[in-house]
This record gives sequence, C-alpha cells and structure tokens, in this order.
Amino acid sequence: MIIVMKPGAPAAERAKIKANLEKQGFQINEIVGTQMAILGIIGDTSVLDINMLKVNDWVEKVMRVQEPFKRANRAFHPDDSVVDVAGVKIGGRKLQVMAGPCSVESRDQIISVAKSVKLGGATLLRGGAFKPRTSPYSFQGMGLSGLDLLLEAKKETGLPIVTEIMSTDVLDRFERDVDLIQVGARNMQNFALLKALGKTRKPILLKRGLAATVEEWIMSAEYILAGGNDNVILCERGIRTFENYTRNTLDLSAICAAKKLSHLPVIVDPSHAAGLWWMVEPLAKAAVAVGADGLLIEVHNDPENALCDGAQSLKPERFAHLMGELKGIAQIIGRDL
Ligand code: PEP
Ligand code: MN
Repeated sequence: MIIVMKPGAPAAERAKIKANLEKQGFQINEIVGTQMAILGIIGDTSVLDINMLKVNDWVEKVMRVQEPFKRANRAFHPDDSVVDVAGVKIGGRKLQVMAGPCSVESRDQIISVAKSVKLGGATLLRGGAFKPRTSPYSFQGMGLSGLDLLLEAKKETGLPIVTEIMSTDVLDRFERDVDLIQVGARNMQNFALLKALGKTRKPILLKRGLAATVEEWIMSAEYILAGGNDNVILCERGIRTFENYTRNTLDLSAICAAKKLSHLPVIVDPSHAAGLWWMVEPLAKAAVAVGADGLLIEVHNDPENALCDGAQSLKPERFAHLMGELKGIAQIIGRDL
C-alpha cells in the first residue's frame, strides 16, 4: 500500500503516520522528493482501512498495490482449489452440474425431479427448504421438513444435496445433513452468518450479491476462509443493472475476473440471472465457454405450477438436452462433463 502526501506536507506529519504504522508492525519505506513524499507500507496491509489512513489532512491519496484479500488470493495460491462435496470434486477438470427445483414442494416433486436430473447427468441435487422471498406473502419454503425430503431424495438417487441457509439457528442441522451449504445473494454480506460458516468445515456455495462488486464478493469468501474453512465455491448469478428484460444481467466477465483474482472454484447460475427458461441453455453454454467450473440450474417437473421461480425452470427433458449440448463445448475447451 502506498501513501502519497500532499505537496509541502510537514515532515512531522509524515513521521506521525510512520510511527503509527510501525507501532502496528509495518515497515515503512519513505521516498522524499522536493515537493512531495511517498510512504510505502510493507506488511500484511489487508488489515488496514484505507479510509482511516486518509483521515490525516496532509494525505493526498492512498493506493493499494495488492488486493485486500489474502486467503482467497491466487497470488498466494497459484493452483486452482478443488472443493470436495461428498466425493464430487468441484474446480477440477470435470464440470459439475447441480440441478433441481427452486423450492422443495412435496415428496413426489423432489423425488421425481431428483431422479430426472440424475438421469440427465447432474452430479448434485439442489432444492430450497428456506426461501428468501421478496414478499412475506410468497411461499417461504417448507423449512426443516423440506430438508428431510431432500435427504430422502438423496437416499433414492445418491446425489449430494445443496440447499440455502438463511440463519445460524439451523446451522447444527445443516452441518449434519447438508453436503453443500448455499449462501444466497441476499445474504452475501451477512457477516455473522459468514463467520459462523467459517467455523464449520462444510463446503459453502457463496452466491454473488445482487449489487456486489467482484472484490466485495471475494471479500465475503475471505470471511469464511479467515475462519478456517477452505471449502468455498463462488457462484455468479447475475447482477442488477438498468436492463429489465431479464431478471438480472449475467456477468460473464465476473467469471474471468474471479478466476484470475482467486483460486476458488467458480460456478454459474444462469437460471436466476435470466429469469427466463429459454435463456438458460445459451447462457449456460456461454458460462462453460468462458471457464466456469460448473453450473446451477433450476429444473421443475411442472414449471407452470411451481411455487417459486417456475418461469426460469427447465423441464427435465430440456435439462437433459442442455447437458447433451454442453458436452460439445466442454470438449472444445478441454473439460469433461
Ligand atoms: C436460489 O438459488 O433459489 C436463490 C434464491 O438464489 P439467489 O440467492 O441467487 O437469488
Ligand atoms: Mn430460485
């Protein structure tokens, strides 16, 4: 990190800043010109708050030369991380596809969808038991009984399960029974939740917030990693833009950015990005082409009557078709599916 002092800043002000940083264990390299002086801070600057350094009126600007995240940073971990979700390895050569309904609605529904997505080639089953809905009057999910049904579907198909956690109240149960714990877009910056998940050793699927920058998203992953849990998978699911034809805007460049900045696996959810079932296939193909490590796809056996997100859900036949189409793209870019 570099501090540029204003022209004519008194040496005493520089010395004050230097002493303060040295007290915190940093080494300071000073470059003093005729008009201006620069302080180079050496040490783990991820703990420093840029705004605090700007409090001194003699400071012109403060610049980071390194990202504020450390554990998630590819600079300190050049190889791709591979996260093992109950034997399914996410982040390796093989692309992994998690599929299933937005919400678990009944035993018949989840078991039927689980069987068909398995047949189509999915390697994990998704399904929401606790649903973050915009309206309090919308279906809120079946809660823990939904999780019981996911476990039945897992028993039936052998597919590990992915489901969203909304509160630390159910963390013990999730730790015991859920293979991949999803943090939804709306909770990406629920720091109490992230800290609690950092204490577990369970794989976490961290969705990008609706209006989060790539850096903020990785900083949220850093919270979980800083707690000692290395098993984090990032998920791009579209962001808010001025465009309202689609539910969100799939940010393909964020996949490239996240993979460049971080060693963590990055998967893509084209369903929530588009909000339209017919866009899911082309967006899924694009995501794989730019280097995503996997996909999250909403699939429903009866989208017209789904309790949540029917408009963006694929019918099982369309999901199977999509998986076939993806094989060709995976092959071209040297990945397996
Ligand atoms: C979901 O996966 O059903 C969901 C609510 O996703 P998001 O948090 O990305 O909106
Ligand atoms: Mn959904």
